Amino acid sequence: MAFTIDLSGKTAVITGSNSGIGLGIAWELARAGADIVLNSFTDDDADHALAQQMAEECNVTARYIKADMSKGEECRRLIAEAGKCDILVNNAGIQHVAPIPDFPVEKWDAIIAINLSSAFHTTAEALPMMRKAGWGRVINIASAHGLTASPYKSAYIAAKHGIVGLSKTTALETAKELITCNAICPGYVLTPIVEKQIPDTMKEYDMSREEVIDQVMLTRQPSREFATVEQMGGTATFLCSDAAAQITGTTISVDGGWTAL
Ligand code: NAD
Repeated sequence: MAFTIDLSGKTAVITGSNSGIGLGIAWELARAGADIVLNSFTDDDADHALAQQMAEECNVTARYIKADMSKGEECRRLIAEAGKCDILVNNAGIQHVAPIPDFPVEKWDAIIAINLSSAFHTTAEALPMMRKAGWGRVINIASAHGLTASPYKSAYIAAKHGIVGLSKTTALETAKELITCNAICPGYVLTPIVEKQIPDTMKEYDMSREEVIDQVMLTRQPSREFATVEQMGGTATFLCSDAAAQITGTTISVDGGWTAL
């Protein structure tokens, strides 16, 4: 049997998808034929325009639903409003960098809520829909920091290790059904979340932008190259294919060798 990836008739909800990795994944799923629900906490013309562009270019249905992933009830409303959710990509995430004694409590709470608890809420709401449809894919965007640690990123690393655990439990609870759940663990990808860390790191180490990228960020990425949002999209699309039907409860690293070190 030859495996092809045709997601027409499936609806994919991608949290935090008006930029970066979430948007890259949405584009690849749309190219494979899935109908798309984009999301973030803003409600700008540009957000809705993205959905319209995706619908036109990929000949799918695409819409944008505003929902704040820091709030459990908003996470659940997103899925309910989508109406159908065959593919759930839990991608929304933020970062804050500080030593533990100085780590602002409100940042800790926000990171745990957005990067971890949101996935619990959306999954809880989406699984009954997947069961009704008799098919489903839950894809959680963890990180190389879901498998390893770095100093000063306590909340992010706790949340990303947590979402790896949540992925395993989701996989076990759905193992006998045509539903899978896995975590993608990207290394560094040059998106706004990473861009924002560059100026502070330049100041901290008194380095140029190029030096920060090469000597701070990519030192742990043996390929010495950023991974791309298209590669994340391709990995997510593969996880939706029949070839990946027995891949569940695991992590897929897309990190240029980071976790092999
Ligand atoms: P990004 O800042 O471009 O994307 C984050 C997305 O989350 C944006 O669309 C943003 O609007 C959305 N978001 C933030 N707060 C939200 C909220 N309260 N409600 C709804 N949406 C919200 O960054 P990215 O790099 O694309 O990050 C996407 C995911 O990938 C995150 O979970 C991040 O931790 C993970 N990741 C990124 C990298 C990397 O190097 N860029 C590496 C590993 C993992």
